[in-house]
Amino acid sequence: MRRRCARVPVTARTAPAGPAGGGRSLGRVQELHDAPLAPLTTLRLGGPAARLVTATTDDEVISVVCEADDTGTPLLIVGGGSNLVIGDKGFDGTALVVATRGFTLDGTRLELAAGEVWTDAVARTVEAGLAGIECLAGIPGSAGATPIQNVGAYGQEVSSTITEVVAYDRTARETVTLANEDCAFSYRHSRFKADPERYVVLRVRFALEDAGGLSGPLRYAETARTLGVEPGDRVPLGMAREAVLKLRAGKGMVLDPEDHDTWSAGSFFTNPILTADAFEAFRARVREHLGPDAEPPAYPAGEGRTKTSAAWLIDKAGFTKGYGTGPARISTKHTLALTNRGGATTEDLLALAREVVAGVHRTFGITLVNEPVTVGVHL
Ligand SMILES: Cc1cc2nc3c(=O)[nH]c(=O)nc-3n(C[C@H](O)[C@H](O)[C@H](O)COP(=O)(O)OP(=O)(O)OC[C@H]3O[C@@H](n4cnc5c(N)ncnc54)[C@H](O)[C@@H]3O)c2cc1C
Repeated sequence: MRRRCARVPVTARTAPAGPAGGGRSLGRVQELHDAPLAPLTTLRLGGPAARLVTATTDDEVISVVCEADDTGTPLLIVGGGSNLVIGDKGFDGTALVVATRGFTLDGTRLELAAGEVWTDAVARTVEAGLAGIECLAGIPGSAGATPIQNVGAYGQEVSSTITEVVAYDRTARETVTLANEDCAFSYRHSRFKADPERYVVLRVRFALEDAGGLSGPLRYAETARTLGVEPGDRVPLGMAREAVLKLRAGKGMVLDPEDHDTWSAGSFFTNPILTADAFEAFRARVREHLGPDAEPPAYPAGEGRTKTSAAWLIDKAGFTKGYGTGPARISTKHTLALTNRGGATTEDLLALAREVVAGVHRTFGITLVNEPVTVGVHL
């Protein structure tokens, strides 16, 4: 059923909001003014939102979006805040926390409400004996954000299992159902990321696989090595999930409030994808700087293109683990994560990011691109 704009009553509250996804359902939209956004992000950075609204049903989400669009108010959609870099001045508009819930499994078909906690949903599919998203365990944030940057890790991407995305289309002013092929998924990108003002994801549908309790074929060499099997092999689902969680934890990629290495947005930069000519020029720079036998990491990325590793570039440009002296530093566990050691500002983090970008460019001639979404600031 297509849904169009309809208003839902709003309850003003004075108490501070809890973490994203932790809102209580009152059957009404919850609203705060001049509310801090930093506690809603995994970086713990960013100024306040003029208005912060938490919606727990699709109708509430649509109502808040319509109201913002009708009044020309800037709108920021917030899930788990794990891929957001919000400026110190905050957001002068309505920040909408999507806290809807819904996990429906029908055979191998899974439907998740946008506000479901992603890593919990992954755990439930593993418990149900279904393969397809087990290697995406431990990725913070909401299910609704997974199609935005085509979340991926350890050899799996959501684009391989998503069948449909149900979204509110702010241009058509109605709900739409986009088939996988209409989502323009690519490496850490999609139609939703390309056109961020247009779609608000309400539900995501997946086709999983019943492989008799086994995982999908392990495509990532490190996971296979950890489990003592060959790439392409399958292992019991729980083992695959546990191995991924262990590998991620070792890199500071599983949230832990006590560990500042996880006060990040995950990978701060995407892995560069280079044309054949650009890759040869890059290789020459690598040999010039690191010696005649040095070889950069290279992975086929389709159509004559090659992907290299942003973490490797950062490290070899001299920004090693733990780099930095201020409150924003490179993680001590992974060069790709820029972290808040406590007391940092967004400007501190961006200054570090700019230093890294400039250093990598100076050394290798490659311009790194940020993976997280920036709000009110630019790299
Ligand atoms: C420790 C750590 C590890 C990470 N590891 C990985 C990883 O391995 N692989 C990976 O791909 N990512 C990783 N990430 C990044 C992040 O977790 C993912 O991008 C995640 O999907 C973001 O979800 P979120 O709900 O937190 O989105 P948010 O940060 O809240 O939002 C991100 C963007 O999506 C938009 N958005 C959110 N919800 C919706 C919605 N319902 N409709 C429309 N737009 C929406 C927001 O407006 C914003 O533009 C990691 C992050 C951290 C902190």
